[in-house]
Amino acid sequence: MPKVKASDILKEISSKSADKEFYTPVPENYGTGKTKYIVITGSVMSGVGKGIFTSSLANTLSWYGLKVSPIKFDGYLNYDAGTLNPFRHGEVFVLDDGTECDLDLGSYERFLDKDLSKANYMTAGKLFKTIIDKERAGLFLGRDVQFIPHVTGEIKKFARTLAVASDADLVMIEVGGTAGDIENSYFIEAMRELAYEEGKENVCFVNVTYIMQPNTLGEQKSKAAQLGIRTLMSLGIQPDIVVCRSDNKLTQSVKEKISVVANVPVERVVSSVNVDTIYDIPSYLHEHKVDKTVLGILGIEPPHSPEESFKQWQKLVNGMKKQEKKVTIGITGKYTNVHDSYLSILKALEHCSSALKTKINIKWIETTEIEEGKTTAEEALKGVDGVIVPGGFGKRGSEGKIKCVQYLRENKVPYLGICFGFQMAVIEFARNVCGIKDANSTELEPETKAPVISILPEQKKIEGLGGNMRLGGQDVEVKKDTLAYKLYGKERVRERFRHRYEVDPEYIKKLEEKGMVFSGKAPKYPIMQILELPGHPYFIGAQFHPCFTSRPLKPHPMFYGLVEACLKNK
Ligand code: GLN
Repeated sequence: MPKVKASDILKEISSKSADKEFYTPVPENYGTGKTKYIVITGSVMSGVGKGIFTSSLANTLSWYGLKVSPIKFDGYLNYDAGTLNPFRHGEVFVLDDGTECDLDLGSYERFLDKDLSKANYMTAGKLFKTIIDKERAGLFLGRDVQFIPHVTGEIKKFARTLAVASDADLVMIEVGGTAGDIENSYFIEAMRELAYEEGKENVCFVNVTYIMQPNTLGEQKSKAAQLGIRTLMSLGIQPDIVVCRSDNKLTQSVKEKISVVANVPVERVVSSVNVDTIYDIPSYLHEHKVDKTVLGILGIEPPHSPEESFKQWQKLVNGMKKQEKKVTIGITGKYTNVHDSYLSILKALEHCSSALKTKINIKWIETTEIEEGKTTAEEALKGVDGVIVPGGFGKRGSEGKIKCVQYLRENKVPYLGICFGFQMAVIEFARNVCGIKDANSTELEPETKAPVISILPEQKKIEGLGGNMRLGGQDVEVKKDTLAYKLYGKERVRERFRHRYEVDPEYIKKLEEKGMVFSGKAPKYPIMQILELPGHPYFIGAQFHPCFTSRPLKPHPMFYGLVEACLKNK
């Protein structure tokens, strides 16, 4: 029998006929084999670092001059991450195009130093909405709409569309959750189909699993991982590489057990132990030749050697470890909650840590305790060299935050206010410097007599953003001869927003008269985007989230400035 080519399979399955069982729309100009795929699945449990592994491998592969585009498939039915509670699910990351997504996209952006978009992120909610919208528009030609082929067809189309649009050599697909979950079963099925259609030589499967080592036994146990891998294989997916997360280096015996159940040679069972920092992982993967193995499996001849970029990365990591100085930064946040809800802020500080060879201790400040009189701002802020009031929503703890800002302003302690923190600084200044006693935000006090922060729907209408929140990348005009200008060295920058409320233009003049400087504004409308206080060593606020655009080798200037000011303040 003649050999069947992948391109012929693709031609057949993309045929649009109601009598066919095939349904796989393929984007125009798609050529099989031009883009190769790496699919990362999980087993045993989530939360073992699949996202970091994906980002790190993507980074390592990009060192070879390969164009890598990542995708995250998330099994939840929310349309995007915008409505997810960050204290349950981790921070809501915002992309330049306004997509509110899982924090893994933040890791991809940081590790690849690349801006991503909605084409890199799909939730089950978004997937099913697309399917139902198509069904309502009659696009399924009278067919009964099914998980196979319609839902899986849509998933494959999403991946192939990104391949064409980003002209990628490699599309890396991370399937959220673990093999065996109902929520991601159709994503996994779509990946199985993808491998058949593209040809096995064009798709590499990596399973990230977990090897337990219960204290009571003291030895590594691989049964859960074996069962997880078996589940994956029962779904028709043969892993090419198995990455085993564990507290200690894998024993040879465990490696062999995994090799036997997974049909994977022992050298492709990778032991991934805990490392000092996540930034060690790309180097670890490179040194253990995981990148080379992937390239070998996919038959890729990379454009150049990775050594130059590898060296640069090593420098970054070494910088991080050579922490000659030390500062303590306070972050107002609930220490009882997952710190993942402030992930980008912690990352942005890490980037400064390396650039400034400084160890940064974090002190979490529970502002509800200040509000309830259990402690004072002065007491709570003892020992910190600078403070960040991050983004937030709602009244709880806000009066405590305002008290902190007052203390920092009056005592000349470095301050960075982010989004909600920017708004807290405006309220504090209006109350205590401008004498507007009732100053507040309509978010916190809808009936306030002095809404220095409020919703301005008409402004949003003019700006064409409509909707509920002002989301995504916007230009910021930076005023010359200000701290902001000193930090950025540019008159126009682009930053990412996620807010509903803003400074009410009615109050701008009053605030400026008393010394607050709005050093960053929207280019065409009176939307205040950066504030600062001259005469203070470092007092700056941003209506946007500078943490979303900080990158390992390019720390964000506002964070860099804060840490520098903290070092001086010591
Ligand atoms: N709650 C404020 C607003 O909606 C701040 C939002 C935020 O910090 N992301 O404007």
